Amino acid sequence: MTAVPQMRVLESYLAGAWRVGKGDGQELLDASTGAPVARIDASDLDLAEALDHGRRIGGKALRKMSYHERALMLKALAQALMDKKELFYEESFATGATRKDSWIDIEGGIGTLFAMSSKARREMPNTRVFVEGAAEPLSRDDTFSGQHVLTPLQGIAVHINAFNFPCWGMLEKIAPALIAGVPCLVKPASQTAYLTELMVRQILQTGILPEGSLQLLCGSAGDLVDHVTGQDIVTFTGSAATGQMLRRHPAIVQNSVRFTMEADSLNAAVLGPDAAPGEPEFELFVKEVVREMTAKAGQKCTAIRRIIVPRKMAPTVADALNERLSRLVIGNPRDENVTMGPLASLNQRQEVLARIDELRSDAAVVSGPVGDLPESGAFGSPVLLHCDRPLACEAVHTIEAFGPVATLMPYDDVDEAVELTHKGKGSLVASVFTNDPGVAEEMVLGMAPFHGRIMIGNRQSARSSTGHGSPLPMLVHGGPGRAGGGEELGGIRAIKHYMQRTAVQGAPALLGAVTGRWVQGAPGKADSRHPFRKSLAELRIGDQLTTRSRNVSLEDIEHFAQFTGDTFYAHMDEDAAGRNPFFDGRVAHGYLIVSFAAGLFVDPEEGPVLANYGVDNLRFMTPVNAGDALKVQLTAKEISPRISADYGEVRWDCLVTNQKDEPVARYDVLTLVAKEWSQTAP
Ligand code: NDP
Repeated sequence: MTAVPQMRVLESYLAGAWRVGKGDGQELLDASTGAPVARIDASDLDLAEALDHGRRIGGKALRKMSYHERALMLKALAQALMDKKELFYEESFATGATRKDSWIDIEGGIGTLFAMSSKARREMPNTRVFVEGAAEPLSRDDTFSGQHVLTPLQGIAVHINAFNFPCWGMLEKIAPALIAGVPCLVKPASQTAYLTELMVRQILQTGILPEGSLQLLCGSAGDLVDHVTGQDIVTFTGSAATGQMLRRHPAIVQNSVRFTMEADSLNAAVLGPDAAPGEPEFELFVKEVVREMTAKAGQKCTAIRRIIVPRKMAPTVADALNERLSRLVIGNPRDENVTMGPLASLNQRQEVLARIDELRSDAAVVSGPVGDLPESGAFGSPVLLHCDRPLACEAVHTIEAFGPVATLMPYDDVDEAVELTHKGKGSLVASVFTNDPGVAEEMVLGMAPFHGRIMIGNRQSARSSTGHGSPLPMLVHGGPGRAGGGEELGGIRAIKHYMQRTAVQGAPALLGAVTGRWVQGAPGKADSRHPFRKSLAELRIGDQLTTRSRNVSLEDIEHFAQFTGDTFYAHMDEDAAGRNPFFDGRVAHGYLIVSFAAGLFVDPEEGPVLANYGVDNLRFMTPVNAGDALKVQLTAKEISPRISADYGEVRWDCLVTNQKDEPVARYDVLTLVAKEWSQTAP
């Protein structure tokens, strides 16, 4: 007698243990074969306890770490997941994804961890508080100032995800949350949760994340959202109907819970009037539309749903699209020759067919669906529709068939093309294919308020372009209106979504104590040692140097002008400089001031200061004439030791004044300084 194989039962990782629901749950089927893959159920799991566990255990552990420590943790995690990637590719076939589709989900997701980690380490200090912008002096005598700071929320991030990106959907959201210092509870869509569960198992097995910082709920959300508090964040990706229901959830409304939603989006691709057949932009446009209609069988939030083209080119575009679509090989993605897999489930196919029927009230079918639909796999062919009077129609702009379906729409002039994109009432992304700068300007400025991202495609960027459909970790992903009104990714902006911005006001010395950053007006500490002689082990915030003063002569100005070649009239021609409304005769070059300042504050001997890597916020405030005397006050403003190097960044406040103590220039000098330095070092 052969043993009946046990079907895999998905587990949830909650409150420190793997758990299964008490009910029979739902069977999840392979999208191509219909074979059972797993069973999912979350009945009777204690979700209030899980949220509390995340806040108490995970949040506390994460907040003990600095931004750089958390970012390095993510990098280590990304490396560990990359080593296991083949496991995920194998499992992903069951979702209907081809290997190419899975690359976006798996390696795209892991790449997002790498990218967010590196952005955070480059653009955030290695501290536990993020100081945003400059301090605002609030009194004339610098005794009362204000400073915006961001600190991690002390709740938990609840991420409710869609079925189409079981890996990327999780990773792109946990990356910014974890770097911010906020623990996460991920609830993948049931349909493809087996792949998310596999990845979470691998993540937890690495032991890289502190306990409580990542939890997983496999199965329906149950009473999850009932327990969210004002320190929690809820993000949602999926259908507008569910999203809107959640947005109105009493716990979210009453506790003013941060809620980010990404829902239906009828993204457009617009062919410029200049991009006639034969032009490279025409070919690029056709290729991109087909790629976006068919990647992940059109189940992508950024897929092109509306193909907006000049009226006279519409028939040629339709022919070119049909020709390319006819070359698709549809089938089980385990077969390497297959270029488009099935939809994620039979239900999903049913949904798409129902939406196509609704779209037909506005549009005629140009091609597809072809043949009988198989019963055991969720296969379907791409469907191209044509709506001849799109300005007068609504369905084609509001009904999202979440599959390989798009509608061709002609326009008569650029204004009309822009207006058609607006009829989507807010989208994640649009693309414009043109080589005409005027068209690019008019279209992009007209479309921008309705879009989170716009890609301009032309011959020059063809080879390097990341394409219409790829959200990038460093650029905003999200869109207004119908697209949900949310914003994800976008570099460190994404991390800030998980933190509270607080305006702190007080005496500069106390502000400095809070922020770990010296604030103008706080006392400086001068001692007998030049601050450039101090390693990071010795240097303290507020260590200060006040230099001797140096006269600026006319010879200096002329020498600098001849030496550098900068003989601008304001430095060389007394009469012309006198006619300039800002100057009273010839003035010193700004860069001469900066150079003299360096000559005044630098300690020339070999020492712990390794390099000057730039200046920030340079402003020239009072003109310098021949005969003026310059003096510099240099103060250690922010010290940020690197974890994985034997040096760190030091930001110095540099104030240059004249003989009347008027500020002449102010800027931040950015240096790399060794953690340790011995005076006797060779
Ligand atoms: P749903 O809105 O049904 O589900 C999205 C997520 O919400 C899933 O994790 C789901 O869990 C969860 N969910 C459902 N009901 C609740 C609830 N009452 N409380 C808390 N969470 C809940 O969308 P689908 O993923 O099924 O996709 C349906 C449609 O959404 C697609 O056909 C497409 O039109 C659109 N969509 C749009 C996307 C976009 O970004 N633009 C992305 C994906 C989908 P469970 O699966 O367990 O029910």
